[in-house]
Amino acid sequence: MNVLVLNAGSSSLKFQIIETDLDRISNHKDDRICRGEVERTGGEAIITFQYRQQPKRKLTASLRDITAALDYLVRFIASDDSGVEEIRSTADINAVGHRVVHGGERFTESALIDDQVLSGIEDCIDLAPLHNPNNIKGILAARELFGKNTPQVAVFDTSFHHSIPEYAFLYAIPYHLYRRYRVRRYGFHGTSHRYVAFCYRAIRGLTREQTNIITLHLGNGCSAAAIKQGNSVDTSMGMTPLEGLVMGTRSGDLDPAIISLIAAKEGLSASDVETMLNTQSGLLGISGLTNDMRELQSELKDHEDRRVRLAIEIFCYRARKYIGEYLAAMGGADAVVFTGGIGENSPDIRARICQNLEWAGLKIDSVRNHEMVGREGLISTDDSRLLAYAIPTDEELLIARDTVRVILGQPHPS
Ligand code: ADP
Repeated sequence: MNVLVLNAGSSSLKFQIIETDLDRISNHKDDRICRGEVERTGGEAIITFQYRQQPKRKLTASLRDITAALDYLVRFIASDDSGVEEIRSTADINAVGHRVVHGGERFTESALIDDQVLSGIEDCIDLAPLHNPNNIKGILAARELFGKNTPQVAVFDTSFHHSIPEYAFLYAIPYHLYRRYRVRRYGFHGTSHRYVAFCYRAIRGLTREQTNIITLHLGNGCSAAAIKQGNSVDTSMGMTPLEGLVMGTRSGDLDPAIISLIAAKEGLSASDVETMLNTQSGLLGISGLTNDMRELQSELKDHEDRRVRLAIEIFCYRARKYIGEYLAAMGGADAVVFTGGIGENSPDIRARICQNLEWAGLKIDSVRNHEMVGREGLISTDDSRLLAYAIPTDEELLIARDTVRVILGQPHPS
């Protein structure tokens, strides 16, 4: 089955086409045909495209919105120019899998999209006003292009965290706010946490029930998850992705009283401050330089910059605190798993985060740690009681697999 995986943002559309089916899933033989991204829709859009291992190509086209972007993209992929032999027309796309950010309390697993599911995703707009409307646009665009007979599946960022118990998802604020507005922790990056938990147990030959780990997704957005017996029992992002770890441009945890103080002092509205916490804070806010960890690290190598050093220190300290918090919450864990752009590629950050965790039985093996860049493997010493792994995430692959499983009515294996 050729599955088109879509991740529709406000002015971008990320895509992959993955050929997979139940046999391929069980033998890990999924075949990634092509991938890319359309950026800056609404004007002169830039299309990045890669067919298999061939070099990336850049194209430009005037594309007014997501519908135009999808139409252009599929037309291009099906044309001789793209070189994609597997896709000659829309009929060669058998299903579409969508990343949907917020599934609220309703969507505890991936869902075949019909009118009811679509209106359920619309009902969650209040919870993710910046994300769900774009995801809906992606779904409607695909429906228009492929017709109602091509099945579409929604895979939610939130659903892996549906197993978090009430005492961990409720905030200590008047209870009626939860009843009225569903104010609670939902958590995000669920597809990534679920995927690396699945890889971890495959590496170690464990069952789902034997999977007791802390996963750290450290990319531009960052989150931690406590996974006990294969289920998410706590996670660091909250009602929105703002809470928790220090991120590229997001503050993560902070005293909520700060919001009204900044608003009063700077003459801003509460929502202006929220935007500042989402877009001007985190690594960027502290360093005053960039949200990009790689750039911060190379800056620190070249010059001793106090704020760059601080940004990295605060980032690592917060991550370490969450490991400690989850070890206590879970009554201990067997491993810490690093993923996301930083978690997969930066031995230095992984080592800094794990500093002083010897008490918990975790010692990083420097050789292994430096070997595991962009690939999966153990990074702790043989005598560690708490293991550490680096495991590259692959959210698109999990979306394609879920799409197949949902269409064929197969239960979730993980
Ligand atoms: P997103 O959350 O947008 O998907 P990624 O998971 O790609 O982002 O992560 C982006 C982050 O990963 C950036 O801060 C980038 O600097 C960082 N990163 C990528 N490669 C490296 C590396 N080799 N060393 C340190 N950081 C890296």
